[in-house]
This record gives sequence, C-alpha cells and structure tokens, in this order.
Amino acid sequence: MDGNAELAEISSQMFNEVLLRRRMDIEFHLRKALKLQEFKLVYQPVVEIHTSRVVGLECLLRWNNRHLGHVPPTEFIAIAEESGLIHEIGKWVLREACTQNQKWQKAGLPPMFVAVNLSRKQFNDCRLSLTIAEILEETGLEPKYLELEITESLSVDARLASDTLGELKKLGVRIAMDDFGTGYSSLGYLRDFPIDKMKIDKSFIKDLQNQTVNAVIVNTMITMAKHLNLLVVAEGVETEEELQALRAYGCRFVQGYYYSKPVEVQHIEEMLVHLI
Ligand code: C2E
Ligand code: CA
Ligand code: CA
Ligand code: CA
Repeated sequence: MDGNAELAEISSQMFNEVLLRRRMDIEFHLRKALKLQEFKLVYQPVVEIHTSRVVGLECLLRWNNRHLGHVPPTEFIAIAEESGLIHEIGKWVLREACTQNQKWQKAGLPPMFVAVNLSRKQFNDCRLSLTIAEILEETGLEPKYLELEITESLSVDARLASDTLGELKKLGVRIAMDDFGTGYSSLGYLRDFPIDKMKIDKSFIKDLQNQTVNAVIVNTMITMAKHLNLLVVAEGVETEEELQALRAYGCRFVQGYYYSKPVEVQHIEEMLVHLI
C-alpha cells in the first residue's frame, strides 16, 4: 500500500470505530431512557386544505439524554429496533398519544385523531393488536381517533402483516401508509393490505410547482387514491406555492412546516386557536 492508501485505510477504520462507539453509547442510554422519563412526544397538525381545519396530529418521538443531548429519531429508532427496545418504547408512544388525545377531547377541543408511527419490528409482535386494544380500553379513546402509520419496509412476512392489519382494522383504528412512493412496492401494499390513507412522501412535494416530474407523480397519486377510495395527505408542505399546487390537484389534506412544525403538548391548544 502506498502512503495515501494506508492513510485512507486508517482513517476509515477510525471512522468505523467512532460510529460503533456512538451506536453503543446510544443503546446504553436508550435502555434507561423510559425509566428516566427522557422521552416526549411532539405533535404536528394535519390540516384540511379547504377548511384550514386541524383534523389530526402526527405524534413524533423526541429523546433528550443527559449525556448525549438531543438524539434524532432517525438515529435512535433504528438502534431501538435492532436491540429490541422498540417494543417497550413503541408501547409508551401509543399509550402517551392515546392518553393525550383523550385529555384533549375531555377538555372540549374539537375531535382529532392522533397518528402514531409503527416500526416494522412492532408488527412482528403477534400481540400488537391486543396491546393496542388494551391501550384503547385503558385510556378510553375511541378507536376512530387513532391512526397507525406504517411504512413499506414493514415486514418480510407479508402473511403476518396482513393478519395483524386485519385485526387492527377490526378494532376500528385507521391504517395509513407513510412515505408513499419511496419504497419498492408501494402499489403492491395498496393491493394486498387494508390501507385507509396514503401519505405522499415529502420528497415528491418539494418545489412541486417547478418540478414537472414531481407534479405528474403527485397528481397521479392523488387520482389513484381517489379511485381506490383512500384518504390522501401530502407531507412536507413548506410553501404557499406547494399548497396551491396541491389544492389544484384536488389534494384534501396536508401536513408540513407551512402550517406548523411539530409542537410540544403545552402549545397545542394555542396553536389550534391560531389555525382554526
Ligand atoms: P416520518 O414519519 O416520515 O415523519 C415526518 C418527519 O418529517 C418528521 O421528522 C417531521 O418533523 C418532518 N417534517 C414535518 N414537516 C416537514 C416539512 O415541512 N419539511 C421537512 N423537511 N420535514 C418535515 P422527525 O420528527 O425527525 O422524524 C423522523 C422519522 O423518525 C419519522 O419520519 C419516523 O419515521 C421516525 N419516527 C418519529 N417518531 C417515531 C415513533 O414514535 N415511532 C417510530 N417507529 N418512528 C418514529
Ligand atoms: Ca409518519
Ligand atoms: Ca412520512
Ligand atoms: Ca419516514
């Protein structure tokens, strides 16, 4: 090896060590995070375009650790999945979201759904629907006010996923397909699973009014959703121009920074007053 190659080799090894160390640190602290109450949920409104009404809130997990600081979900969710911690964490998210929604309803806020992201690992747990039934029972939340967001990477075992989804549908909760259009078999999922809602991935929404390809794709997705009797939400809407384009395509619901970033629970009521 010449000097440069050797240097590259060493630095790539160091880089890998740093990554591994970070992963181990995260897993170590993640194990204690629930007990230490380090998690919280933030909520992002889903808005009906033609009424500007907030119809629901997507719940997004936040983790602030004393040693690591804020760790983004894109980083720690994968580690929670690999280590199996996602089951307990996921249950906490579901319980927290349902409890909170029930509180809002009792406080007289307009009825809204909460949307909870499910990891594909949670789907491999055959007790998932039982767990969710228990949480609904325990919190008193009506099932129609809970939505479950799944992604396409969901499960290798399509059979199991189909059974689980069937059980969940029977409970009366809604199933949304998240990040629609980004996976390999989005259409296969629509065909094989009892999906209620399509969430168009934000990568298609970006600069919609100037990107002809995105415009054609989004327009087609919306038309298809209508023909399949699916609700459709566009994610990642940031500008007035994007919103207008979506309105023109007949999209009914949107979510994104244009209306609001995800906000903490204490700001929800305030935010609703401004948005309604
Ligand atoms: P996601 O489910 O696709 O969530 C949407 C992400 O886009 C969120 O990032 C949200 O803050 C961000 N976002 C919302 N509006 C806009 C916008 O207008 N522009 C842009 N650029 N981004 C926007 P976040 O909160 O960092 O979450 C990232 C991912 O982590 C989520 O993607 C989801 O896959 C995962 N995640 C978050 N919370 C949970 C959870 O409780 N359970 C599981 N399993 N996954 C979660
Ligand atoms: Ca989501
Ligand atoms: Ca998404
Ligand atoms: Ca995602």
